Amino acid sequence: MEQNSYYFLFANCIPVRGYTRAIICDLTRKTIDFIPIQLFNILIESKKNKIKDIVQRYKGDEKEIMSEYFDFLLENEYIYLCDKDTLKKFPPLSKSWQSPNHISSLIIEYSENFCIPEIIRNIEEYGKLEIQIRFFTKTPINTILKLLSELSNRRICSLELIIPFSNEIQDKTLEKICLDYQFISKFIFYNTPKENIKDHSTPSIIYTHQNILSESHCGFISPHYFNISIDSFTESLYYNNCLNQKLCINKDGEIKNCLNMDRSYGSIHKANLEKIIFSKEFNLYNKIKKDSIDVCKECEFRYICSDCRTFIKYPENIYSQPAKCTYNPYIAKWEDEEGYVSVEECGTYSKNKGFVVDVKKVEALNLELWGG
Ligand code: SF4
Repeated sequence: MEQNSYYFLFANCIPVRGYTRAIICDLTRKTIDFIPIQLFNILIESKKNKIKDIVQRYKGDEKEIMSEYFDFLLENEYIYLCDKDTLKKFPPLSKSWQSPNHISSLIIEYSENFCIPEIIRNIEEYGKLEIQIRFFTKTPINTILKLLSELSNRRICSLELIIPFSNEIQDKTLEKICLDYQFISKFIFYNTPKENIKDHSTPSIIYTHQNILSESHCGFISPHYFNISIDSFTESLYYNNCLNQKLCINKDGEIKNCLNMDRSYGSIHKANLEKIIFSKEFNLYNKIKKDSIDVCKECEFRYICSDCRTFIKYPENIYSQPAKCTYNPYIAKWEDEEGYVSVEECGTYSKNKGFVVDVKKVEALNLELWGG
């Protein structure tokens, strides 16, 4: 590598620091790579130095390691070598997040007791909607087709359908539905005899033998659910990435922030929608971003990881970590990895201070796990 050059970190490749390690989020290729904290600090603090000058600050093995770090960045196309003048020509990516919508995500549990197209017509004036409709019982295909036909002239950004498996829905029927209703982005068939995921098709078609509509399937935190995109990353910097601009209607017609939350804002048949959508109470969770949440604020995954405010570790503390997270950012281990210990073993939780890490204990654990 030409160490006499300056380096430019591509604007869409964003380093995020965690307690033990950092990541580079490539928001275009939708990938992440782990990097050590030392390299994170260089990427943040030494943007305007020649590689040679950075490497020469170190001695012996460390110098060698530093050269390898830059080789890694170049090989993986995170950086671009350039001269000093070129460096000035690339502005950083704007990290602001703006939306013309007041509601952009709508989840409805299907019921014969209300008219879904009518509800959507009332809500669509508050934003362009990504909709998920959940069917709890086997519903005749003709009922689903009638609903889709009525939704065709609504202002829908995308539609996800969660349907219990039925032999009535054959591949040919599905193909025709996908062709006729191109706003459908995903089908999820649950309680199926076998698992099958066609996640790269359009729309995605997922067959799962699990009953994903049970409460226990919501709020899980896993790398499988990480969302690496500019929109979600920047939204997570300022807002709660699960509940911001979300409205849910359960099968009894109750309006909620989340279907698993107890709080209801009234019935869709009677409530003043405008008043609810702009009320302080309804928007209470919107601004609880990952940087405000205990433990998550020290986790390298915080801007790509979904948040859950329904299932939280300490219900009396609205800022506590999602209860279904099995990652410990203080030692960089998931529960199923060797050497894992829980977050609770790495510090203490108090009502006033939230989670306070036991620095000495974590240092000793990391020494044992990862070496010096
Ligand atoms: S601690 Fe868990 S829930 Fe919080 S950001 Fe990290 S992985 Fe996500």
